[in-house]
Amino acid sequence: MKNDLRNDIEEIILTEEQIQKRIEELGAEINAAYADKPEELIMVGVLRGGFIFMADLARQIKRQVTFDFIDVSSYGTGTESSGSVRIIKDLEEDIKGKHVLIVEDIIDTGLTLKKVIEMLKTREPASIKVCTLLDKPARRTEKHITSDFNGFEIPDKFVVGYGLDYAEKYRNLPFIGVLKPEVYA
Ligand code: 5GP
Ligand code: MG
Ligand code: MG
Repeated sequence: MKNDLRNDIEEIILTEEQIQKRIEELGAEINAAYADKPEELIMVGVLRGGFIFMADLARQIKRQVTFDFIDVSSYGTGTESSGSVRIIKDLEEDIKGKHVLIVEDIIDTGLTLKKVIEMLKTREPASIKVCTLLDKPARRTEKHITSDFNGFEIPDKFVVGYGLDYAEKYRNLPFIGVLKPEVYA
């Protein structure tokens, strides 16, 4: 197709099949981790990148669970972090006494998750854990910020697809890939 956004992809890093298979495994890990916890579980998706991952992961959870979203801004529209993280949209729900599972597309420097975790901790949840689809450990500056459930470790490349954007585009690709250099030009 003429304007198919796949024409902009140089390399596929993770296929749709690889991602879906891994999400089934992550779901099983999460189901086991919360099996004997009677308190409410709430999944907190980090917008916007986490929305597709959250939707697929949610359907692997077998227990009662509720959903909420938080929106943070750190990257602007480019590929480099601005260094400061702002909360743009807070949760709607009270998380006191609940088990919070933060669902994020990728953990890179760790600054975003650090900020979100610090903020949510003050609200006295029963626990806070993190589930990420991707981890780029090479770029971590916040060494103590880790993912409790992670899909894939990836090399230090800027990736798009499956929720992740470049200039707000490419989120709807069903796989994770790297853009051709001319797309940035
Ligand atoms: P951190 O705060 O850990 O450095 O970065 C977290 C956020 O930066 C992610 O939630 C994601 O929105 C964005 N980010 C980090 N690496 C990438 C990448 O390779 N591709 C895209 N599209 N976004 C990224
Ligand atoms: Mg994100
Ligand atoms: Mg982005």
